Amino acid sequence: MIIIFDYILDVFFPRNLKCIYCNKDIDENNKYSLCDDCKVKVSFIEGNVCKYCGRHIKDGNICLECEKNRYYFQRGISVLEYNDNSKKLVLALKYNKKTYIAYYFAKMIYDKMELNEMVDFDIITYVPSSKKKRRKRGYNPSEIIAKYVSKFSSIPYEKLLIKEKDTVELKSLNRMQRKLTVKDSFKIKDNDLNIKKCLIIDDVFTTGSTINECSRMLYEKYVCDITIATVYVGDIDK
Ligand SMILES: [Zn+2]
Ligand SMILES: [Zn+2]
Repeated sequence: MIIIFDYILDVFFPRNLKCIYCNKDIDENNKYSLCDDCKVKVSFIEGNVCKYCGRHIKDGNICLECEKNRYYFQRGISVLEYNDNSKKLVLALKYNKKTYIAYYFAKMIYDKMELNEMVDFDIITYVPSSKKKRRKRGYNPSEIIAKYVSKFSSIPYEKLLIKEKDTVELKSLNRMQRKLTVKDSFKIKDNDLNIKKCLIIDDVFTTGSTINECSRMLYEKYVCDITIATVYVGDIDK
């Protein structure tokens, strides 16, 4: 499936010809298909980071947001700083059907996994969307990113969860409302897998309530060690 999918993408969006942000011509060896200007604009996370969500923090190892929560995952990475430019790129993938961007997000995530020596997983999975939402949009951005991370890392990828409840958009909700809304909205898919180390991928981390609820389900079923990876850590107030 992924081969056909890949082929279709290559035909319609030949890789590394144009910058995925400004559409300027770029060198074909360009790693993330971003011109030098846009690389600076979207801004990659560097330096000291929060061990749970992966956002940049001045010092310490847990950010203020994560300090308020108790997670079922042990660690997490994120690749881009949250700003108007990175947001535009994520929104283009999520709402404008620019699914080819997922390939580059996956590459960024995979490179960071390698850099942090986080490549030892039995399985890669993703935060599912509800049937209704997936049908409406035609795809799940997190699923495509996960597929490519699986391809780059040669770690198998599997759908482990099902979104049962079609929850309201979390955008306008505060932390507590989010927690309550996502509670019990996922179901574990039936399988007899033995999972010890799992990587969960989602496009965006906001309060972490969604990916944490997925982690809880997986932890309760497999008692596994969980790592999460997202493109950026968004801000609840924006
Ligand atoms: Zn550019
Ligand atoms: Zn954090």
